[in-house]
Amino acid sequence: MALLDTATTAVPVGGPELPQERRLVTELPGPRSAAILARKADAVASGVGHTVPVAAVAAGGGVVVDADGNSLIDLGSGIAVTTVGNAHPKIAAAVAAQAAQFTHTCFMISPYESYIEVAEALNRITPGDFAKKTALFNSGAEAVENAIKIARKHTGRQAVVAFDHGYHGRTNLTMALTAKAMPYKSGFGPFAPEVYRAAASYPFRDGLTGPEAAARAILQLEKQIGADNLAAVIIEPIQGEGGFIVPAEGFLNAIVDWCRANGVVFIADEVQTGFARTGAMFASDIFGIEPDLITTAKGIAGGLPLAAVTGRAEIMDASHSGGLGGTYGGNPIACAAALAAIDVFENDGMIERAREIETLLKDRLATIQQNDPRVGDIRGHGAMIAAEFVDPETNAPDAALTAAVAKACIAQGVIVLTCGTFGNVIRFLPPLSIGDDLLNEGIDIVAAALAAVAR
Ligand SMILES: *Cc1c(COP(=O)(O)O)cnc(C)c1O
Repeated sequence: MALLDTATTAVPVGGPELPQERRLVTELPGPRSAAILARKADAVASGVGHTVPVAAVAAGGGVVVDADGNSLIDLGSGIAVTTVGNAHPKIAAAVAAQAAQFTHTCFMISPYESYIEVAEALNRITPGDFAKKTALFNSGAEAVENAIKIARKHTGRQAVVAFDHGYHGRTNLTMALTAKAMPYKSGFGPFAPEVYRAAASYPFRDGLTGPEAAARAILQLEKQIGADNLAAVIIEPIQGEGGFIVPAEGFLNAIVDWCRANGVVFIADEVQTGFARTGAMFASDIFGIEPDLITTAKGIAGGLPLAAVTGRAEIMDASHSGGLGGTYGGNPIACAAALAAIDVFENDGMIERAREIETLLKDRLATIQQNDPRVGDIRGHGAMIAAEFVDPETNAPDAALTAAVAKACIAQGVIVLTCGTFGNVIRFLPPLSIGDDLLNEGIDIVAAALAAVAR
């Protein structure tokens, strides 16, 4: 590997003009990143971990550039956030213009039009041809908390059901909703009461059809909680952190039907799946479901912190005035970014691009799987694709192999993320602005890393 070449370390401007290449000029981390990460260890609480040992200075298209001038292929999008591409020119321009206009008034003090425009856009593009309203927040967890508040107020009931493998955030109520103890919950209790868990649909592991899995869950809801006590059911249409688990056909539809028949608010947590990520504007569209409420965040604003609850107007209006909100919720800069991002999602071929990426990734991964039975399952939609690694004899999850492959990819300059209840899934979440060449090179590295770990 070349020694650090100081000529390459001037900080580049980010966005799609960055050279679209994987380029390693040091081992990772290089000396500049290492120095910054040493300061992180001294200054930042150790609970805030990191996956890729570099300090980012610029990103765009399909790459992240670090402080030493290394250029890494981005197959993570900062966890499904920079779906339109990092430092997208339309987002950057909208942010700069709004920052020069005003940065904050607090929407609850003096409202502004861009927040209302974001609400109008979300009411229009989310599934369901009925009157909708929206409220804006700062993070996915905050959106989930508010969706539950709204559902409780609307129904006058308290119980909430989340599912095995579900992930809904790290605040107290959302920790209670989240399934996985380590690292999300361990030692952080007590958790919010009146949260119950039902069995999900995980076709690769439970072998059940959608209706069978739904019947199993509904039996739990009826016998262990009782429909009369149940305010809301919350589920990710495709489970994200839990392992990119695509439920069997008919599972979600049966749960939605049961909720509707029993006056239970059905909440689709589309924080990770929303905004063209899955090759549809929302994953709910893929399954033909119309949630009562939808929570969104991550991809909504090209990287700016913004989140929303959107849903049936009569449910959204359940709260008394002043019951919903927050100092920063719907910040004007984040709203300007969201309007630019939604314009890109609707008009710049993002859904089509996500579908192309699905085809490329699934074809490449299928070839790898043919030669290596440790790739137990390949699944997902759009630019949200996963490979689940197993012991081929027993199908047991192989978390060690998964971690070794991910670590080797990152060392070679390819950002991949793992996920899954059993830690045995590599998830591919590239920005939709990535080119096919970089995607293919990224998968080449994954294949080589897998081949290098002895069977
Ligand atoms: C990331 C995520 C959240 C939490 O969002 P934050 O912005 O990190 O609070 C909630 N639900 C799902 C499905 C997520 O993927």
